[in-house]
Amino acid sequence: MNNTLPDPWQEGLASGWQVLDASTLERDLALECDVVIVGSGAGGGISAEVLSQAGLDVVIVEEGALKSSRDFRLRESDAYPQLYQEAANRQTADKGITILQGRTVGGSTTVNWTSSFRTPPDTLRWWREQHGLQPLQDEALRPWFERAEQRLGIRDWEVAPNANNAVLAQGCDKLGIKVGRIHRNVSGCWNLGYCGTGCPTNAKQSMLVSTLPAALQSGARLLTRVAVTRVLASRDGKRALGITGAALDGPGIRHTGRQITVRARHVVLSAGAIGTPAILLRSQLPDPYGLVGRRTFLHPVLLSGAIMPQRIDGYHGAPQSVYSDHFLHTQPLDGPLGFKLEVPPIHPLIFAATLPGLGDEHARLMRQLPYLNVTLALLRDGFHADS
Ligand SMILES: Cc1cc2nc3c(=O)[nH]c(=O)nc-3n(C[C@H](O)[C@H](O)[C@H](O)COP(=O)(O)OP(=O)(O)OC[C@H]3O[C@@H](n4cnc5c(N)ncnc54)[C@H](O)[C@@H]3O)c2cc1C
Ligand code: SF4
Repeated sequence: MNNTLPDPWQEGLASGWQVLDASTLERDLALECDVVIVGSGAGGGISAEVLSQAGLDVVIVEEGALKSSRDFRLRESDAYPQLYQEAANRQTADKGITILQGRTVGGSTTVNWTSSFRTPPDTLRWWREQHGLQPLQDEALRPWFERAEQRLGIRDWEVAPNANNAVLAQGCDKLGIKVGRIHRNVSGCWNLGYCGTGCPTNAKQSMLVSTLPAALQSGARLLTRVAVTRVLASRDGKRALGITGAALDGPGIRHTGRQITVRARHVVLSAGAIGTPAILLRSQLPDPYGLVGRRTFLHPVLLSGAIMPQRIDGYHGAPQSVYSDHFLHTQPLDGPLGFKLEVPPIHPLIFAATLPGLGDEHARLMRQLPYLNVTLALLRDGFHADS
């Protein structure tokens, strides 16, 4: 697909947005600012917009490259190496769990599937009761959720679900369990189904098309292809003074040998659930409760597949539009793991890598791809002492 649709990054860069690809640096770089933000995903993007619009001098540091709608061609073979951590093969040491995370400007929001939920009330209650987070009251958070929903175009998705989602809806109806429609953060969605390889139409309101352009428009600076290694801290470790990192080469695999230092009054670490604790561990900052790197929750996902008599074509249409929380509520929060039911997009490359079996058996299953329905059970992790 040759994408000739308008791309706001081309215009923004032409108008003078300050973006530097560190793979091109010929010497070390040192910058100063009010706030340095590590990572440009959901956390980093929102922080960058809010802080730069408040008049602060912001530098965003991202280890991925800048790829925008013109680069997105609905191709898994381009998207995984260019837009995902470890080419979408990040795994736990025992290879038991594959962890999909973004590694590009916009972070995981550039490749995520647009399902947009508020933090559930029972989760907020758990955090209040078990962790003393009293400010997290439903009513107190409501205006913040509303503000994010407005900013990111989160609303009902009124188009009929694709066949893959329809299977989930029909199954829940047959079992008599409650099913809901998923809110999506899209504006003018073409219903292509390729959110996971980067939205070519800019319909998905990821950080790439929403908060990051706004931050750059307000004067924020963006450094790409910088892997932040450590937080710089005062001698007693009590005050963060900035960050240091290594420039990566164009493909993002090797260090070029150039060092980047950003001195700042404040440091925001938003490098994701794996990246942030890794930076903290490398920085050897004080960790009075011994929790850094030990309390990572993943919502592990179990997949089940079924070959259906009718065509499903799970690669077409909004990837997730139907869900059921029925099995989250059939046992206590801290009991056996409850789970949310959803379906994923089913693209050939990721499906081939996920399928069990080899050779003829694998090929036979692959030939049935158009008839495949997949259901996800997203396990609610983190509510049990043994989590
Ligand atoms: C394929 C996929 C589908 C998903 N679908 C959904 C969905 O439909 N609905 C939903 O709610 N959630 C979904 N998610 C999850 C959601 O996108 C993430 O929970 C969210 O983006 C996390 O935000 P974050 O800011 O913590 O991290 P991220 O958005 O992952 O951003 C972290 C950024 O930090 C950068 N980084 C990491 N380490 C360093 C370092 N050392 N130096 C510099 N930069 C670094 C990374 O490259 C990345 O860009 C999905 C995720 C994926 C991968
Ligand atoms: S389904 Fe909509 S949001 Fe997703 S890639 Fe297609 S146009 Fe973009």
